[in-house]
Amino acid sequence: MSAQGVLVPDVKVDGVNDSNGTTNGTNGIHVVNGTNGVNGADGHKDGADDSFDALIIGAGFAGLRMLYELRKRGISARVFDAASGVGGTWYWNRYPGARTDSESWVFIFTFLEELGMDWSWKERYPQQPEVEQYLNKMTDYLGLRNQITLNTRITGAHRDESNNTWKVSTNKDETFTCKYLITAAGVLATPLKPPFAGLDSFQGEWYQTGLWPNRKIDFKGKKIGLIGTGATAVQVAPIVAHNAEKLTMFQRTPNYVVPARNYPIGSEQMDAIKGSYEEICHRARTHSMGFDIIDSKLKFEDLENDEAIQSVLDAGWEKGGFHYFFETFSDTLTNPKTNAVASEYVRKKIRAIVDDKEKAELLCPTYPIFSKRPPAGHNYYSIFNRPNVELVNIKNDPIEEITPKGVKLGSKEYEFDMIIFALGFDAVTGTLGNIGIHGSNGESLADVFKRELTTSYGVTLPGFPNMFMIFGPQVPFANGPMVIDTVADWIGKTISYLEKHHYDRIESKQEAAEKWSHQVNHLFAQTVVAQSAMDVKSWYVGANIESKLHRTLLYFGGIPTYINVLNKEIEDGYPGHILSSPKEIVV
Ligand code: NAP
Repeated sequence: MSAQGVLVPDVKVDGVNDSNGTTNGTNGIHVVNGTNGVNGADGHKDGADDSFDALIIGAGFAGLRMLYELRKRGISARVFDAASGVGGTWYWNRYPGARTDSESWVFIFTFLEELGMDWSWKERYPQQPEVEQYLNKMTDYLGLRNQITLNTRITGAHRDESNNTWKVSTNKDETFTCKYLITAAGVLATPLKPPFAGLDSFQGEWYQTGLWPNRKIDFKGKKIGLIGTGATAVQVAPIVAHNAEKLTMFQRTPNYVVPARNYPIGSEQMDAIKGSYEEICHRARTHSMGFDIIDSKLKFEDLENDEAIQSVLDAGWEKGGFHYFFETFSDTLTNPKTNAVASEYVRKKIRAIVDDKEKAELLCPTYPIFSKRPPAGHNYYSIFNRPNVELVNIKNDPIEEITPKGVKLGSKEYEFDMIIFALGFDAVTGTLGNIGIHGSNGESLADVFKRELTTSYGVTLPGFPNMFMIFGPQVPFANGPMVIDTVADWIGKTISYLEKHHYDRIESKQEAAEKWSHQVNHLFAQTVVAQSAMDVKSWYVGANIESKLHRTLLYFGGIPTYINVLNKEIEDGYPGHILSSPKEIVV
């Protein structure tokens, strides 16, 4: 994000993703047969149907990317997922309107072109079915499906220090052992259950966006209540507004919604994208947020008058999506003046779009922009000019209960045929904590995360040897596929390094993890949203859940710096980790 350009000096990224570390099968690592890892075994170790070198939890972007990486390196691995299909986030979030906020050409596995896979996106921001199709096509193209077990939830993983393994159990009463446990369970994968009393009594239909059924849900002729105004609700609302008899939105905190400005991608543009994938991927890896954007170096103080400021913001607003943040000013997150101007600009736009003055004011956030992750909207604000859309402010009049007929506030009851809950997620640590992972001393990951967020680069953590997290706490706040690509690449290289140097065990050093965590927290503290993100209960600081540790879950130093940090850990021989071979393991 643009703050990184300021928080961290410009960095040069060398040697990114040069993945050539195929191992030779010594030191207990089983080599899967096959050229380029595409053909091969079903992931089991020879002769054992319950043992893998690596067990990966989750078959979304991260799990698939990781499986490919390990396969390429000849390491036996199996992926487990509770869903009946691959896709992870893009399997579960099939609510109407679901689509990426990242431009399609950077919502990819970056190595596809090298492998000669042909894929053409239809839109600037692909919809959920298209992303799900893409991930399915990837799975088949890379020959990964026979190493994926679906419909199976991992219910626990216990560290067995005496055997240097993880014992992993499933909801099917199976037990597996693995040397490396890799979590790829998603960053926003545990939807918050509606906490409202009386939900069972509701006589209409109700749905959670994060668990949307895989069938058509009809909005026609219905009165629909939508609770929540985050990125998810902002995507659902226009679809409901245009199809239902009436949409009533319950808003507690307004968001700064920037226009996405979606468009279909024509064949000429797609050809041009394909012809420059190398440059696009390079730009994304060298952009702080992992986007195909050249960071603006412009600071507020560089401009002398309001007109010049206005024209910079106009250009970002016209381009749409995250361009509003990253092609305008580089100090929106670090300079309160820039942030105030960028925030006021959006408020002016809201007032210009929404005719009803009272509604417009309700939709205008007053906190600094980016205190909450800003959603990209698809004609969001204009729905409030429709006669069938009502906006209800529940800031000081909260939902008291769900009744058989609808939603009851302190002041009034609203009757609905359907209620949609878009209440957000127990982000990052929530999903990891729920898996039931227990480290060397038996402590659960959930308990550790209640106490502290201390990881090495968001990938490893003390007390959990041979465990890697692909989207753990303290990885960069950035475009998901780019974060995943970076972390999976590092994990692959690390396992190959262990193999090559005859190590069997890796564990993050406490002091190294503390150092990284200090850096993560220190960087975040320098932003202008450090306090306001807490105040507005933002998920990325854990504040949307009262009982959670309220601390930044993500690293604000940007992808390029992060890549350099990871590369350096390898180049320096893992100074932040304890590497050992079996005979050295103290039981
Ligand atoms: P969210 O941003 O956390 O929003 C949850 C909404 O539910 C908020 O408006 C919140 O109000 C409201 N809410 C929660 N509990 C409530 C309660 N008890 N009563 C009334 N309102 C309540 O969640 P989200 O919209 O699912 O988005 C989460 C993240 O997912 C996004 O920030 C984004 O990173 C990601 N996402 C990405 C995409 C994409 O890339 N295309 C799409 C959707 C989501 P308050 O704000 O007042 O707490």
